[in-house]
Amino acid sequence: MSKQAMREEAERLIKEAMEKRSVAVKQGQTRIETKCGKCGAPNRISAAPGQGRVEYACKECGHKQKAL
Ligand SMILES: [Zn+2]
Repeated sequence: MSKQAMREEAERLIKEAMEKRSVAVKQGQTRIETKCGKCGAPNRISAAPGQGRVEYACKECGHKQKAL
């Protein structure tokens, strides 16, 4: 195997691992729609199931808060 082929193989494996991880993160997550307590802008956040309170920052004003 040439050096070039070995590097390509390593890059492919890393890419695969990253794709698998991103899929695993997405699976089982629930989307929560909530309203910012400061400016009232609607925010869509994702949370792990069973997680009571999710901390997030408003996309409009950046206010950090917890969604129920
Ligand atoms: Zn806000």
